[in-house]
Amino acid sequence: MSTNTNANVNTNISNIAKHPEQAPMFDLLFFGGTGDLAMRKLLPSLFMAHSAGTLHPKGRIWGLSRQQLTTEQYLDILEKEVRTHAKVADASQEVWQSFCQRIHYQKVDVTELNDFNALKTTLDSFDNKQDVIAYLAITPKLFEVTCKNLVDAKLDDGNMRVVLEKPMGTDLASSNAINDAVAQYFHEQQLYRIDHYLGKESVQNLLMLRFSNILFEPLWKNEWIDNVQITIAEDLGVEGRGGFYDGIGALRDMMQNHLLQLVCMVAMEPPASMDADSIRSEKLKVLKSLRPMTAIEDINQNSVRGQYTKGIISRVDENNVVNDSVVPAYRDEPNVNPNSQTETFVAIKAHIDNWRWAGVPFYLRTGKRMQEKFAEIVITFKDVPHKLFSGTPQNMQPNRMVIRLQPDESIRLYVKSKKLGNSMEVQRTFLNLNFHEILQGRRTSAYERLLQDVIESRLPLFVHRDEQAAAWQWVEPIMEAWAKDEVPLYKYSAGSYGPVQSYELIAKDGRTWKEDVLM
Ligand code: NAP
Repeated sequence: MSTNTNANVNTNISNIAKHPEQAPMFDLLFFGGTGDLAMRKLLPSLFMAHSAGTLHPKGRIWGLSRQQLTTEQYLDILEKEVRTHAKVADASQEVWQSFCQRIHYQKVDVTELNDFNALKTTLDSFDNKQDVIAYLAITPKLFEVTCKNLVDAKLDDGNMRVVLEKPMGTDLASSNAINDAVAQYFHEQQLYRIDHYLGKESVQNLLMLRFSNILFEPLWKNEWIDNVQITIAEDLGVEGRGGFYDGIGALRDMMQNHLLQLVCMVAMEPPASMDADSIRSEKLKVLKSLRPMTAIEDINQNSVRGQYTKGIISRVDENNVVNDSVVPAYRDEPNVNPNSQTETFVAIKAHIDNWRWAGVPFYLRTGKRMQEKFAEIVITFKDVPHKLFSGTPQNMQPNRMVIRLQPDESIRLYVKSKKLGNSMEVQRTFLNLNFHEILQGRRTSAYERLLQDVIESRLPLFVHRDEQAAAWQWVEPIMEAWAKDEVPLYKYSAGSYGPVQSYELIAKDGRTWKEDVLM
């Protein structure tokens, strides 16, 4: 492990360099630089940052993999991907060429110390001293050897940041094993565990909304909130990744990390400050307050697992024409066991046992091949104690705050108002904070924001290992019960909102999922 513990960390979430020249100069090493993640997300995000002028002009970006490529060959591969995936106002040849000046490629097999020594020699051959950041866009099986070689080759000067991609294990033991392995070489403060949901504008806006407006805070508790729903729905299936997904499933792939992180953002107490320790310790308290579900009756009562069958997915194209396509059942996807018991859908009713949230159910669900792609948090408030006005059941719904994370980021507050005309009939409407319409300026993608945070040593939007452990602890009994087939695996048609049992999960409490009341 590095002996220097003065890693430049813990800066405040809002402490952003005002000018790129004030931000650190960096050598950003992409292990897995030829992989899908690097090509589709990471390098396009950096191109966006580059074209917006937010990166230090001297920052260098390194593509690394086992392939023997020249930088020119690497750039040829990269250009097509970046042009496909980066959303930039100016993708001119001039901007691309200036981006190319930052890019270098070197062959590094992470299992070969010699390759790391050669990389160190290359980095040292440059005049300027830069912060070295290692982004491990490789399988976690290679994390330990990569970290060891980074340290053995003396690439870490104590200030190195190491970014760790999911999946960080498949259960508590394997997650701990990865974290222990990495901790032999790097301090917790040097480790940036990515959960890209935390990089989304609307998730950060939720923090801003909650903790900078007095309006919401008094209402943000069990006295006024009836229930919280969080949904991450995908219309895609496993998209050729059946071999990876089968045996993993929605609980591990989405619930343990993304959904529980969103729960933390909704439920955490106001932190003492916006620094990493304050924010992450408040999130950890939420995870530790999740009511354990260990008895099989509990798990059966409060969780639904599903798997999609053949169905029809409808997509609206850019000309607003609806195109239907028949998609195969999960079990008929390539590289999926035809008898697979892996869930592609999960819904859970969770409780947070603390003063603020006692009695407020959190309904969480995620699935593949659902009717539409969206992610949102719905806060449903309690109804008025005595109704003076009337209207249709649809219009009489209680107040709701809908925080839409994708595809369009917005926050809507549904309120009741008077219908036009002579009657005093209730009309439901909403106050709309549509970021695309209201907020002018450039939008950053989640990965761009998080990469910028790593470059500038901001840890608050990254996950602490204790959070990860607490999340695994909570989902593990559910995983175990499912593995023993003690909970049925329900079917749902591709293109639906999940198995009918997920409706029953919420209906037995006298409630409905948001799409049934706010369509
Ligand atoms: P991928 O397309 O299979 O790419 C794997 C990368 O790792 C390639 O660049 C490969 O390069 C490199 N690699 C493998 N063995 C290596 C070695 N011994 N030394 C150096 N490089 C080596 O995988 P991916 O989809 O990019 O995913 C990478 C990691 O990120 C995985 O753990 C994945 O679960 C995670 N992740 C991916 C996504 C995504 O959207 N793709 C999202 C979240 C997390 P060569 O084979 O050319 O050496």
